[in-house]
Amino acid sequence: MKESFQLLWALQQLDTELRTLTDKLSQIPSRVDDLKKAAATIKSDLDQAKSDIIEHKKNYKLCEVELKGTEEKAAGYSVQLYSAKTNEQYKAFLKEIEGQKKLKNTIEDQMIVLLEETEALDRKVRENEKKSAELDTETSRKVEMLEAEKKEIGAAIATRQEQREKTAAAIPAELIKRYERVRANKGGIAVATVRKERCSGCLSPIPAQRILEIERQDRLYLCEACGRILIVAQE
Ligand SMILES: [Zn+2]
Repeated sequence: MKESFQLLWALQQLDTELRTLTDKLSQIPSRVDDLKKAAATIKSDLDQAKSDIIEHKKNYKLCEVELKGTEEKAAGYSVQLYSAKTNEQYKAFLKEIEGQKKLKNTIEDQMIVLLEETEALDRKVRENEKKSAELDTETSRKVEMLEAEKKEIGAAIATRQEQREKTAAAIPAELIKRYERVRANKGGIAVATVRKERCSGCLSPIPAQRILEIERQDRLYLCEACGRILIVAQE
């Protein structure tokens, strides 16, 4: 009986380790995804900035054409000014010239804004180009590490599963059944130890007389508070 309880304790430890390892393993894919997403975000920001620059340069060229247009129109009206036959006509031409000058100013302001924005975008591209390259390297390195970790955890799980099977095979079937039942109901922990006169599973106090009985390990004792199998662990 004594030996069975110690094996049960070993089984519990293996199951706890297996759960921790399985949790760790299941987190790896999302950790890889997060890393790849972060790298992709910087890259798409970079691509966006690059296409914004192209757009800005295109708009700047259009502004240049428009600017030339206003100059030509203003020049045309200036010539017509001399052939004005009435004062109204003269005033109308002056107004047109004024209008073209205003338009020219607006376009010039636009061009300054476009130049400033292009400069800022150029800066951003230069910075992000560096950042993106660094992050790519860093990401590949981290993903490789995670893949290696995945393999290691997989191997650790396999080893423990093998140990678990051997351990379980050495425990009476009735006890294993009980163990599995309690484990399913008690969040994966079926075996608790007596620690500082308390159940390690639920921390309820255990009477001194009962502890003496448990220490004999001649039969199965359950914690009266949580129902876990109580043992005295030889740690
Ligand atoms: Zn308990």
